[in-house]
Amino acid sequence: MTALVLVLNAGSSSLKYQLVDADTGAVAAVGLLERIGESEARAVARHTVLGVTTTREADVPDHAAAIALVLEAFTTHGPALTATSLTAVGHRVVHGGDRFRSPALLDGQVIAAIEDLVPLAPLHNPANLAGIRAAQAAFPDTPQVAVFDTAFHQSLPPHAYTYAVPRVWRERHRVRRYGFHGTSHAYVSRRTAVLLGRDPAEVNVVVLHLGNGASAAAVQGGVCIDTSMGLSPLEGLVMGTRPGDLDPALPTHLARQGVSLADYDHALQSDSGLRGLTGTNDFREIIARVDAGDPDAELALDIVSYRLAKYVGSYAVALGRLDALAFTAGIGENAPRLRAEVIGRLGLLGMRLDVARNDSGPPERVITSEDSAIPAWVVPTNEELEIARQTAALTVSPPASP
Ligand code: AMP
Repeated sequence: MTALVLVLNAGSSSLKYQLVDADTGAVAAVGLLERIGESEARAVARHTVLGVTTTREADVPDHAAAIALVLEAFTTHGPALTATSLTAVGHRVVHGGDRFRSPALLDGQVIAAIEDLVPLAPLHNPANLAGIRAAQAAFPDTPQVAVFDTAFHQSLPPHAYTYAVPRVWRERHRVRRYGFHGTSHAYVSRRTAVLLGRDPAEVNVVVLHLGNGASAAAVQGGVCIDTSMGLSPLEGLVMGTRPGDLDPALPTHLARQGVSLADYDHALQSDSGLRGLTGTNDFREIIARVDAGDPDAELALDIVSYRLAKYVGSYAVALGRLDALAFTAGIGENAPRLRAEVIGRLGLLGMRLDVARNDSGPPERVITSEDSAIPAWVVPTNEELEIARQTAALTVSPPASP
């Protein structure tokens, strides 16, 4: 029996979806709605089936209206979504706190727990909840599952997740490292082991998820033992618009100079990282500017690759033995120049780049030479398939034994 899962990723003003066969990975439909709830502009909905994309504009005041539009797209352009054809709905939920180590079948208690975690993810969990409520109303008889971005990192040991801050912050305000991008790290680390021809339970991998948001994870035999994002997705690597690691004295220093908390927050979310260094967070443009000799772009590439190499080095120490390095997401999959800079800084680990392999080849490929002590791979991420599989694993009962 195939397990057809509707994967939903609800943001504050967007809704992404895929209809995925969790067994084969085949994608039956993909769609995106943008500008939900915006008064100045109508929402734009795109629905793609068999390579054909239809676009329409509509007034979409909230997520319930968004789901209604998605259902209409399936009815008009296919494939038909019936109670029998749809096995389950899988929701991406950003923050599962320390409550969820694995996906959860959605019921009143799980929804209340996701609500309770809103203070930890004030931008994301409310949008995820709006998507869940709208989908529950639309598919009342279909099982629905929450797949948490934080869950894969719940295996971090206390010495990796505890901040050295007062006990009252840790206990009352739930201040600790949680980590994000967990579905991507889970998928890519397991896929890397498969590509190596080995059992994931025996392979140690460092995954570099480098998109507009970026994080590293140290995965030991399938279990995550450290990751670079922390209490929020601001910590760690230099990202598109976020700075990554900073001196904790920065907010008080800036407050004394008259910078408001709102301006500080906005600058760290939206005006830092690559954009803060170069004026753009489009990595293609940064590489073009590096090629043209722009000093700001050259410095940004140095800062990004230096930070990445430091993380890989420290995670190699944490893992005790490193079997592979994996690059994934928009930049990790598509920017050979950055991969070359990172691997060039990892000579101490005996890593040697193969320039031709790095520059081109199939989407999944090794990019180091035969004499590299540790191989590096490009492994395209597939968060939707991972959510579909985790959702199916919770909702499809195994066939009864004969
Ligand atoms: P993501 O968040 O995974 O969609 O990744 C977005 C980032 O990937 C942006 O910084 C893009 O500029 C970058 N990106 C996408 N395609 C390329 C490419 N061909 N070369 C370099 N960077 C790319």
